[in-house]
Amino acid sequence: MSLSLYVHIPYCQAKCPYCDFNSYAAASWPEADYVSALTAEMEHRAEGREFAGQRLRTIFFGGGTPSLFKPESIGTVISAADRVFGIESGAEITLEANPGTVDLAKLAGMRAAGINRLSFGAQSFDDATLKFLGRIHTADETRAAARLAHRAGFTRLNLDLIFAVPGQSRAALIRDIGEAAVLEPDHISAYNLTFEEGTAFFADMKRGRIVPLGNDEQAAMYAIAREEIARRGYPMYEISNYARPGCEARHNLTYWRAESYLGVGAGAHSFALSGNESSGYGRRWWNERLPAKYIGAIVERGIAEAGAETIDFATGASEFVFLNLRLRAGFALKDFRVRFRSDFDADFGARAARLFEGNLLERAGDRIRLTERGLELADSVFAEFV
Ligand code: SF4
Repeated sequence: MSLSLYVHIPYCQAKCPYCDFNSYAAASWPEADYVSALTAEMEHRAEGREFAGQRLRTIFFGGGTPSLFKPESIGTVISAADRVFGIESGAEITLEANPGTVDLAKLAGMRAAGINRLSFGAQSFDDATLKFLGRIHTADETRAAARLAHRAGFTRLNLDLIFAVPGQSRAALIRDIGEAAVLEPDHISAYNLTFEEGTAFFADMKRGRIVPLGNDEQAAMYAIAREEIARRGYPMYEISNYARPGCEARHNLTYWRAESYLGVGAGAHSFALSGNESSGYGRRWWNERLPAKYIGAIVERGIAEAGAETIDFATGASEFVFLNLRLRAGFALKDFRVRFRSDFDADFGARAARLFEGNLLERAGDRIRLTERGLELADSVFAEFV
């Protein structure tokens, strides 16, 4: 068995008004203390039985803005992960980066530190849209960053896009997709802008200062994203993710396939499948969200667990279904049987039948997946399994 490791770096130069991630605007940050805490947390977790003997097949530095950290700091975390768990040869090691925070020296340093995949938050190639989204970078900086990434030797590169931004036209979305593809990433993520409670955009929406695009327009833009990104050589493999064949994000596949992962850092979540049936299905836990509290807890106890839940087989089966349904290929009934020792039809027959009748789910051989209509109404399909 192998494992995926998520490393959360919670600092950003500025807080984007749409962002509900556990991230904090900071002019400076306790980089050395934070790296020590990450190392100590990994050491502690490796001693436990949950991940005993498991090596790492993927590592993902997410945030926040991990590219704010020095390459040496990222290298220290990767070396510690290798010493503590062991990193499989050919492991995918991704760093999220803000195009406004990198130059060639930094990217080359990250490559030398062991990063082999970059994910840039491009979001748009229209400067007015970037400004509206509160991004610290311009479209030109994204173009430059992607070119520098290629020069620094990165063959694996993701660009994130955001669509359905108020004021954005369909033509502008098509332009964004074209501009992204020209930079030759091997992967593109395209997310529908959402207004999450607690964000500045949510407050603006409540006060009527921002009016989200209508549902039909959002659906039309999602259809454009699916068609236009695929047309440029990046088939959709997950609701918001597109990749050249063979270049899918292996780390994120761990989440969508409901497999075990360890998350370290402030607010990080972890999930461990039980090794044997008698100890239940699995366990989920999450860390202290505030960076200072996280570091303090690690110094004191070696872990920073703020909460946990035991997942029983029924809940695990629901999660397995709605996570896997995010994948374009859905899931194999055989895999469901192996994981839960029961039949999908027996467990979800009535609920699934309604979705099949409503043309939201379909069977393709041994697999169950969303239909095209199901993709557009995915949230209501998933709600059936919660
Ligand atoms: S850079 Fe990313 S993590 Fe930081 S505030 Fe903006 S969207 Fe959130």
